Amino acid sequence: MECFMKKNDMVKVTIEDIGVNGEGIGKVDGYTLFIKDAVIGDVVEAKVTKAKKNYGYARLVNIADESEFRVTPRCDVARQCGGCQIQAMSYARQLEYKNEKVRNNLIRLGGVPQELLDEVMEPVCGMEEPYRYRNKAQFPVGTDREGNIITGFYAGRTHQIIPHMDCAIGRAENKEILNIIISFMKEFGLSPYDETSHKGLIRHILIRTGYRTGEIMVCIVINGNGIPHGDTLAERLAEIPGMTSVTYSVNREKTNVIMGREAGLLWGQAYITDYIGDIKYQISPLSFYQVNPVQTERLYETALEYAGLHGDETVWDLYCGIGTISLFLAQKAKHVYGVEIVPQAIEDAKKNAQINGIENARFYVGKAEDVLPEKYENDGIHADIIVVDPPRKGCEESVLHTMVKMQPERIVYVSCDSATLARDVKYLRGSGYEVKRVKGVDMFPHTGHTEVVCLLSKLKSSKHIEVELKMDKLI
Ligand code: SAH
Repeated sequence: MECFMKKNDMVKVTIEDIGVNGEGIGKVDGYTLFIKDAVIGDVVEAKVTKAKKNYGYARLVNIADESEFRVTPRCDVARQCGGCQIQAMSYARQLEYKNEKVRNNLIRLGGVPQELLDEVMEPVCGMEEPYRYRNKAQFPVGTDREGNIITGFYAGRTHQIIPHMDCAIGRAENKEILNIIISFMKEFGLSPYDETSHKGLIRHILIRTGYRTGEIMVCIVINGNGIPHGDTLAERLAEIPGMTSVTYSVNREKTNVIMGREAGLLWGQAYITDYIGDIKYQISPLSFYQVNPVQTERLYETALEYAGLHGDETVWDLYCGIGTISLFLAQKAKHVYGVEIVPQAIEDAKKNAQINGIENARFYVGKAEDVLPEKYENDGIHADIIVVDPPRKGCEESVLHTMVKMQPERIVYVSCDSATLARDVKYLRGSGYEVKRVKGVDMFPHTGHTEVVCLLSKLKSSKHIEVELKMDKLI
């Protein structure tokens, strides 16, 4: 059957649903259209940009009738930027959307009975002030058509820089920092980097802030070996209250990777410090660190609460990154074992354990699917509680298999993608575990992302597990 919709067709459509990335979804005679920037409840005129057999995409041209959930985005460049997909949706509706997404995935993909979920699911934890929450920003530096030095953000999926220094979810002082650097470049004739010719010096400006400490770090990424008059620049930046670290990072490669490997200190110290709860972290330009510290604390508190520790438990933290959750858990557990694939992250985890005087946490480099069975089967390390915080693709089935074999009392699953969480929950529910608590934590207001914590407990009598375990031993 031929599709009745064609590219460039104009349609008028009521937005009835929200897609996985926050886009509006509407139907024209049963044909589904995905329309970015359209808010649920809007009636919009849109131009079809791509028509597939059963569904298509369209670009919002005009809002004929505004949804009750539509608000004016704080950023006047919200549509061009694309960093925030749902800034035009009221925050209360955003939270409801995130709740629905988690709930639907757990029911449809996870097979969790609706009645059970309604009983155990807690309301999503949103922010009181859902702006200015990001503690990290990376600004590309380039030139406009007239040759002026500019900085801002890349227009959605391109490398064209849209000048803009005041992102509504970033720190207010970023603008001042950027202005100092751009004026300095003009004054001393420092060139911005040009991707096409691979010429020019200043590529990116990284700014990180310790929310609790107020410490600020600036790292300038350069296509060269140093910054001429770098001392002068550093002196000017040092005037900003809270400035703690000014560094540069050398990246001479033709690459989309922002940071280089070598770094140099221009002023102050090479790292900043921040706290999540009572745990102190040292953050260098290259370290991984959660970007929303306020909500991270709530996320980890939820994970800790779900873990229900009394002090004598052995806890595993799989996919532990720089050990943030591990160190949180270590305050309440007997032993914590963290597993992470990136060696650098494990070095940071060990260092962070040390600066906090935490001695009951151990960290292993490797894949969770290799390390966990090895430590369990060869070294006989058991688990009372297992916490996992995998990347978007979720856990490998073999990891889930080993987890079940270890028979922890509780599994705390921290997830950044409720669809893969639901898939893994299905496996665990089929293996003697049941969902006891679920809570979304809004780590990324105005984006379609949803973080969620799910507690699963071992069922008291799980006959089929025993059978499965015996079979395992026989094999
Ligand atoms: N829990 C951490 C980070 C979680 S992000 C925090 O809150 O800060 C997921 C982490 O899983 C990343 O650090 C990634 O490097 C790691 N990872 C990805 N695949 C892995 C695997 N197969 N085994 C172990 N770690 C893995």
